[in-house]
Amino acid sequence: MFFSPLNWLLGLFSLDIGIDLGTANTLVNVRGKGIVINEPSWVAIEKRTRRALAIGAEAKKLSGRTPANVIAIRPLRDGVISEFEYTQEMLNHFIEKAHEQSLVPMPRPRVVVGIPSGVTEVEKRAVYDAAMSAGAREAFLIEEPMAAAIGAGLPITESRGSMIVDIGGGTTEVAIFSMGGIVLSRSIRIAGDEMDEDIIGYMRAKYNLLIGERMAEKAKIEIGSAFPLPEETTLTMRGRSLITGLPEAVDISSIELREALSTSVQIIVDTIKDALEDTPPELIADLMETGICLAGGGAMLRGLAQRVSEEVNMRVWVAEDPLTCVARGAGRILEDYDNLRKLLVGLERGSTHHF
Ligand code: ADP
Ligand code: MG
Repeated sequence: MFFSPLNWLLGLFSLDIGIDLGTANTLVNVRGKGIVINEPSWVAIEKRTRRALAIGAEAKKLSGRTPANVIAIRPLRDGVISEFEYTQEMLNHFIEKAHEQSLVPMPRPRVVVGIPSGVTEVEKRAVYDAAMSAGAREAFLIEEPMAAAIGAGLPITESRGSMIVDIGGGTTEVAIFSMGGIVLSRSIRIAGDEMDEDIIGYMRAKYNLLIGERMAEKAKIEIGSAFPLPEETTLTMRGRSLITGLPEAVDISSIELREALSTSVQIIVDTIKDALEDTPPELIADLMETGICLAGGGAMLRGLAQRVSEEVNMRVWVAEDPLTCVARGAGRILEDYDNLRKLLVGLERGSTHHF
């Protein structure tokens, strides 16, 4: 982000915070400072007392290797807030942490939180309350595809259409914008996590090898793809043989991995096609000029942009720094609050704020 003396000065007097409450990662963007927290959305819980023992990176480290009395969970796993209280606790923890990092005592912050577009009114309320109870002066919500599009620099407030596909851990969100509004959107629960599951299933079915989630994710990131690679590679997968029950290593090729990922990739491609089919022709004409922007961690799957481009016959590109688009977009709203506040989501009733 470029340095602006005005923002810096404002940053001294208020602590405005944009948060990407993602299913896989939570990012906190403090105005004038940039992204100060970027941690996995994980909470480790003591089973007996249901008390949170660790939050964020520390909690993720425990996953798959916790002692019997501790479990590590992802409270937003599928894009819905399945674990209400732990989501609140996590949000609280991160806001406080961002607050503590300031050198001088700060007034209470204004907070903008990006939320998955499928969340219910009750869940929105929970996020709002969590932000307020964490000491926010004012809290606002924004739909993640909207924040992602702003962060990616799409011209969403203009009348010409633009389109984002945000592929996160739990959900893929497709949205088409015009004049600052979402004209059409699709949300599916097929994204990065499902790809990891595909790899686990493939190794089990083809090699009788049981691998962990982390091994699967590593394989996806290192050799996964959605389009033939200029040079195909291999990777050693380690796990437990389902036949002998003993540790085993198997070399698999990037071609096999592409096959493993093909179902999920196809569903994402079909969802994009489906959204385009329902888009008014004028907007389609715009999109043919502006193209489709991919954001979220899943956008980094090798060859995905190329694959989508071939299938929909349009220009497709990956946003700059796709993992931080939502956090940067939420931050952008705080910087230009008077002009952009209309993009925020209202709560249906009982909210203490108005637009
Ligand atoms: P969320 O917004 O749901 O928190 P993110 O946008 O942070 O999700 O993306 C996380 C997902 O992106 C994870 O499933 C992760 O495995 C995946 N991911 C990260 N880097 C890559 C990569 N290089 N290739 C493919 N997937 C990736
Ligand atoms: Mg996200």
